[in-house]
Amino acid sequence: MTKYKLEYLWLDGYTPVPNLRGKTQIKEYDGFPTLEQLPLWGFDGSSTKQAEGSNSDCVLKPVRVFPDSTRINGVLVLCEVMMPDGKTPHPSNKRATILDDPGAWFGFEQEYFFYKNGRPLGFPETGFPAPQGPYYTGVGYANVGSIARQIVEEHLDLCLSAGINHEGINAEVAKGQWEFQIFGKGSKKAADEMWVARYLLQRLTEKYGIDVEYHCKPLGDTDWNGSGMHANFSTTFLRETGGKAYFEALMEAFKANREDHIAVYGPDNHMRLTGKHETASIHEFSYGVADRGASIRVPHSFVNNSYKGYLEDRRPNSQGDPYQIASQILKTIASVPTAQGASDSGERAVA
Ligand code: ADP
Ligand code: MN
Ligand code: MN
Ligand code: MN
Repeated sequence: MTKYKLEYLWLDGYTPVPNLRGKTQIKEYDGFPTLEQLPLWGFDGSSTKQAEGSNSDCVLKPVRVFPDSTRINGVLVLCEVMMPDGKTPHPSNKRATILDDPGAWFGFEQEYFFYKNGRPLGFPETGFPAPQGPYYTGVGYANVGSIARQIVEEHLDLCLSAGINHEGINAEVAKGQWEFQIFGKGSKKAADEMWVARYLLQRLTEKYGIDVEYHCKPLGDTDWNGSGMHANFSTTFLRETGGKAYFEALMEAFKANREDHIAVYGPDNHMRLTGKHETASIHEFSYGVADRGASIRVPHSFVNNSYKGYLEDRRPNSQGDPYQIASQILKTIASVPTAQGASDSGERAVA
C-alpha cells in the first residue's frame, strides 16, 4: 500500500467569477487511485460563500483525477460541490447541469497577464514600457523578460504530466501577457482541463511571488490589449457534413442568441469588446473569414473545405467559465436543425 496525497479541488461560490480552492487528504491505495476509489469529502461552505455558518457542510464529489508531478504520490482530484445529501448539485455547481456531447470538440485559448507588485510583469514602477508590437510571440529579454518563459515552460510540463490536453503556448500582444491552449472532446472534458490548468498556473506562480491576472482588461481604457479566451468549437455534424446553408443558419442562431452568449462569456467584457484591438463590439454579432475583428472568425480551411470544420468564437474572455461557455455554444447549436433534419421536413429526394 502507498500513501497518496489527494488534492481535492473545487470552485467556490464567489460571483461573478468563482475561485479555485483545494485541500489535501492522505489515503492509502495499492496503486494510483481511480475515480471510483476516491471518497466523497466535505468542507466548510461558510468560508467559501457556499453555505451559512449555522449549517455549513458542503460535499465534494470527485469527477476527474489527474497525476500531480509536483508531489511524491500526488493526485489532483477535481470535484463538483454537492449539497449535504451528496446527490443534489450545489447552486454554485454549474458543471452538473451543462450540455455535453463527446462529438463536440472545444479548443480554449486562455490569455492572461503575469502581475508583480500590482503591475504587469516587466512594466516599470511608473509609466509604461515601449508600446505593444514586439511582445507577441517575441523573444529576448527586452520583450519577454527573464522569468515569464520559465514559468510558462514549467506550467506546460505540469499540464502534460497531469495528462491535460495542453496544445501550445505563446507570448501575447501586451507586455507580461501570455496564452496557452487546451483542447478537449466534450464540453466537460475540455472545461475540466482548463480549470485544472488554471489551478496549476496559479499554484506554480506562488513561489515566484507573481500572480496570474485573469481580468479581461486589466489596464483599462488604454492601448494595451485585454485578455480573451477564444472558444474554438466543432461538432460531428460541423466536421463531417457542414455546408453553407447550415453554416448560415447557425450564424443566424448565434446572432439571435447574442445576449445569452455574452451573459456567460465573462464579466466586464464591455471593457474588452470595444471593436478595437482585434475585438468585435459587444453590441453586435459579426462573422468573417479570417477576420480577427469579428465575433466569430471563420478559418480559411472551413470555407475551403465546403463549410466543414471548426469555428472560433472570439468573444469569451479570460475570466469566463469554460463550462458555461461550452454549454451555451452547444445550446445554440442544438437550436439549429441539421441539413438532414431540415430536408426531412422538406423536399428531400428519396434515393
Ligand atoms: P489563433 O491564436 O490563431 O486564434 P490557436 O492556435 O491559439 O489559434 O488556437 C486554435 C485552437 O483551435 C486550438 O486550441 C485548437 O485545439 C483548436 N481547434 C483546432 N481544431 C479544432 C476542432 N476541429 N474543433 C475544435 N477546436 C479545434
Ligand atoms: Mn491563440
Ligand atoms: Mn491570443
Ligand atoms: Mn484565437
